[in-house]
Amino acid sequence: MNNVAVIGGGASGLVAAISAASKGARVTIYESGARVGKKILSTGNGRCNMTNMNASAEHYHGADVGFVRGAREKFWVGDTLGFFLSLGVMTKTEPDGRVYPYSDKASSVLDALRLKLDALGVRTVTSYEVKSVKRKNNRFIIIPYRGESETADAVIVATGGRAAPDLGSKGGGYDILKGFGHTITDTRPSLVQIKTETETVKKLKGIKITAEASIDGASEYGEILFTDYGLSGIAIFSLTAYLGKQKTVSLDVMSGTSREELTAMLTERARLMSDVPLESYFTGMLDKRVGQALLKTAGITPLSRPSRTITKAETERLAAVMKKWEFKIEGTMSWNNAQTTKGGALTSEFDKNTMESKIVSGLYASGEVLDIDGDCGGYNLQWAWSSGYIAGMNAALRKENKQ
Ligand SMILES: Cc1cc2nc3c(=O)[nH]c(=O)nc-3n(C[C@H](O)[C@H](O)[C@H](O)COP(=O)(O)OP(=O)(O)OC[C@H]3O[C@@H](n4cnc5c(N)ncnc54)[C@H](O)[C@@H]3O)c2cc1C
Repeated sequence: MNNVAVIGGGASGLVAAISAASKGARVTIYESGARVGKKILSTGNGRCNMTNMNASAEHYHGADVGFVRGAREKFWVGDTLGFFLSLGVMTKTEPDGRVYPYSDKASSVLDALRLKLDALGVRTVTSYEVKSVKRKNNRFIIIPYRGESETADAVIVATGGRAAPDLGSKGGGYDILKGFGHTITDTRPSLVQIKTETETVKKLKGIKITAEASIDGASEYGEILFTDYGLSGIAIFSLTAYLGKQKTVSLDVMSGTSREELTAMLTERARLMSDVPLESYFTGMLDKRVGQALLKTAGITPLSRPSRTITKAETERLAAVMKKWEFKIEGTMSWNNAQTTKGGALTSEFDKNTMESKIVSGLYASGEVLDIDGDCGGYNLQWAWSSGYIAGMNAALRKENKQ
């Protein structure tokens, strides 16, 4: 019987362990935290957005995004839903394709995984932070910071990346993989809030709008939240998956309306609201404070002026700002606020069909530790489940293949 060590008891590691044990391996999960699956409980605001029915390759990023193809062919959304159903987890799909447990409780996903781990006799060692893994006489030695070393025939590194270190993953898995000669690309927070110049956003703190947010090369339509440090909300989170060296983020607050149409609309509005002071010009169309900020950005002041005084040139300027309201990017919030890691272990050094290292036979990696990150909407957990399942199955079958 193959002895499989799974390092990291997160989404990917738990599924890897179930997959390996289901194929007959003797499995141990080594988890640095006091319990497994802590991050799962925080996903989807406690509801766990498990996957997305639209999980195509365009929703993933990395130096070689084609690496996801292996998982898509072997164990993807349908297989994942079937897997969870076999564990008793019923799901429901929202109109945008996001899938949640029917219970609306992330805890029920974790409970179901734990019940299965128990049923399969998987050993779980908690408060065991793995420092390094060595290869000796065709076996792996798992070396912790504290406690006794253990051995295994195959190792799955499922330690996550650097996002949300309070929930467990601090990037230790990168060192384990580096120890075997693997390359780790630059990492940075993704699915995170954007810090911008604060003069405008600070005054709008707490206001949510629906708009199209764009950076050079990508746009996302959805909720935007103004904060005292910059911009947040689902559209902004999703946009950071594409964030590189861009200097500005812009908002189109009238997405779907052309600049010409908007100019005509604003001209008619000035006629309808002729005696209304500019400070209330947007009442009934946009949030009042957002409207006032747009007028100021377009240089249309004082706001005490009656709306009929807006000139043609001012109307055109206002329409231009509403279609492209620019904010200078000053970075992102920190790892503590990020949902995932951009970058990680270089995927070209792994086999996409098995998740096995091309450098060290018997070594596997799955989930966020690899250089694959998804958009906001269930795509990251899908990658964690899929890559974990495939790694677990192949680690378990490995020895048998060799005999
Ligand atoms: C607040 C929040 C909400 C999110 N919501 C969603 C969502 O709704 N849908 C979605 O698709 N994605 C969501 N994500 C992203 C998703 O949770 C992660 O991409 C996914 O959990 C990654 O799984 P993983 O198993 O690779 O890593 P992790 O879940 O990070 O698990 C890694 C585990 O390894 C352990 N570990 C780390 N280093 C060591 C070591 N050296 N020794 C032993 N153990 C170690 C950690 O303690 C941790 O338990 C969210 C993320 C956050 C932070």
